[in-house]
Amino acid sequence: MEGSTSVNAIQPLVDLQETDGQIRELEREAKDIPQRKAQENARLAGVNAALEIAKNQLAAMQQRIKNEEAEAEEIRKKVRDLKTAQLAIKSNKEMQQSIMQVEGLEHEADAAENRALALQMDDIPVLERRVAEAQAKVDADKGGVDDYLAELDARLAEVKDALAGLMKERAERAEAVSRANPRFLLYYERLRTKRWPVVVTLNHDGVCDGCHMKQPPFVDQMVQHNTDLVACTMCGRILYRDL
Ligand SMILES: [Zn+2]
Repeated sequence: MEGSTSVNAIQPLVDLQETDGQIRELEREAKDIPQRKAQENARLAGVNAALEIAKNQLAAMQQRIKNEEAEAEEIRKKVRDLKTAQLAIKSNKEMQQSIMQVEGLEHEADAAENRALALQMDDIPVLERRVAEAQAKVDADKGGVDDYLAELDARLAEVKDALAGLMKERAERAEAVSRANPRFLLYYERLRTKRWPVVVTLNHDGVCDGCHMKQPPFVDQMVQHNTDLVACTMCGRILYRDL
């Protein structure tokens, strides 16, 4: 740099943009964290719901078995009553009828008991295994989810701290730009809401690194020493040369 009196007027803008870039990233992360938490909670709710469903299915099956058993018990009671009544029967025909009725009822009771038994042997183990599997998933998840959510909370706190620091740095860097040239800051701030990044290099083929349009030769010459604000003729971004 011997003898060079030119100052890189764009450097303070580049510095400001670097801070803004970090702020943008952290702001995006801060916005993203509550969404990640919500997703995780929704996933956990799904796992819990699966357990609830499995438990309900098991309970429904147990109730069905109880109903079959109750039905069998009710029929057996009828049989006992009929048999008691048989002691008082006098006619043969009446006795025959009663015996047939008892046989029929015993058949029904057996059938109901067999149904209950079959459900108990075949269906209950399957449903119990499903409950156990769903419960294992919930248990395995619970700790992991809690840890993950705590991690996200901790990260959010870090991000907010970092952002507070960066906002201070930003104020200082914006001040530095403004001190050198208030017009630069105004231009940068206005363009920042529409284009990112705002300050880009004009590469050695004379192409804007923001929109990739070839610039006219005069732009190339003006950018040469980074002494003034030169805008891309296409996208308006501030051009500088990586010296
Ligand atoms: Zn451009």
